[in-house]
Amino acid sequence: MEATTRAPIRTCAGCREALPQEELVRLAVVPEAPWLVPDAKGKLGGRGVWVMPSVECIERAAKKGGFARALKRKVDVDPIVLVDLITKQLEDRFRGLVLGALRAGHLKAGVDVARDSVERGRAHLLWVAEDAGRREDVEARAARLGAACLVWGTRETLGDYLGRGEVAVVAIEDEGLANAIVRVTNRLAGLHGGCPSPHKHATPEDRKPA
Ligand SMILES: [Zn+2]
Repeated sequence: MEATTRAPIRTCAGCREALPQEELVRLAVVPEAPWLVPDAKGKLGGRGVWVMPSVECIERAAKKGGFARALKRKVDVDPIVLVDLITKQLEDRFRGLVLGALRAGHLKAGVDVARDSVERGRAHLLWVAEDAGRREDVEARAARLGAACLVWGTRETLGDYLGRGEVAVVAIEDEGLANAIVRVTNRLAGLHGGCPSPHKHATPEDRKPA
């Protein structure tokens, strides 16, 4: 990760690594089970604790006292429940970003329009279905022209997100939305069984000059 952010540094309750806040998930204490819930919008007040969005760190924090240490109280957290809650929250965020891009006219769906978007230098991110035809060609073209590439889901998955039939390729033309989508998918990649969980994540910082 490039040191371009001045985000506050927080400590993961699992592995105790200190990282920029944006790479961690804030969990807030709630008065009943599941005791800790993801505080996606930072609006839940009260005591909170930070953890990396990784199954390993969440399990470690739950089982080895990391949450209790950070919160200075005993919490009986089921890591499986917590992983599910965080996954669900990130999936909702992903869906929201994709639909936001669609509604704002920053999303181009379909092989031909996405290719056109890349060639005009408008695409900041290509979301490519695993079963897209000539997928390697699409990825190579994106890399050459400087668009990040996310490979995840099937054509049916992409279509479901957009509320239409099968879609092989989606181009995101807004840089802020593209960056936000990449951040969410990178986080989801640390959570098993979470979807979308990209095989390959690209960061916009990796983009090569066109
Ligand atoms: Zn950790």
